[in-house]
Amino acid sequence: MDHLSSSQINLYSQCSLKYKFQYVDLLPKPFKASGLVFGSAVHAALSWFHTERLAGRNPTLDKLHKVFEADWYGQTIESHVRYKEWETPAGLIMLGRSILGLYYREPHDGVQGTEIPFTVPLEDPVTGERLGINLEGFIDLLEQPDTIVEFKTSLKAMDIKDVNVQLSAYSYAYEFLHQRLPRLFKVVNFIKSKRPRILVLETHQCDHRRFFNLAKKVFEGIRAQIFFPKHSFMCAGCEFAEPCQGWEGN
Ligand code: SF4
Repeated sequence: MDHLSSSQINLYSQCSLKYKFQYVDLLPKPFKASGLVFGSAVHAALSWFHTERLAGRNPTLDKLHKVFEADWYGQTIESHVRYKEWETPAGLIMLGRSILGLYYREPHDGVQGTEIPFTVPLEDPVTGERLGINLEGFIDLLEQPDTIVEFKTSLKAMDIKDVNVQLSAYSYAYEFLHQRLPRLFKVVNFIKSKRPRILVLETHQCDHRRFFNLAKKVFEGIRAQIFFPKHSFMCAGCEFAEPCQGWEGN
């Protein structure tokens, strides 16, 4: 194991057994949740849109919709998608188009980078202790001046606490790479309600030491092979419900 990502840290903290199934045993997923497909398609469309803006072009909303739909169809051909009982593929495509339309009408000045990959060593910002592994990830969008933007799709309005680990990881990596702290973090939350809307959450602070300590405990747990089920709201949509049922403590 040579790296951790914020989603791995989050997943291990939420259910270490699911982490094991996904990242240690590499079990195939019998289905892909519609929410994940939708979120990926929105991300793909936004990434394309910001790349166009960076190149000085003004893409049309129609093209943005086409990129979303192409990604949606690509994913749904490749995997078996599990929809919620009230969802239909056509309804989700309409929802994606509406959400992207809302975003398209917002101002988009100051785009500095999109889907920015990073790999930085995990080390205690106070003592310099090194874990011997890297933190890896992608920053969805960087805006001027020093503003990190994360896109999230959800059924209900999110709270900034829901993305604390992710933002802390980005802030930690940003400071390591640029020797300065980000000025602002923005979470652009696309809410998939009947009448879709965009909520922008902002924060100025992330606790790098707390983040390092969390990553350290997760890393220690993985190395010691501490994996156990933790029942929560996540179980309802878990792809590994079957192997979880058969878990015998190893
Ligand atoms: S069903 Fe629940 S407890 Fe079991 S692995 Fe999935 S999330 Fe964890």
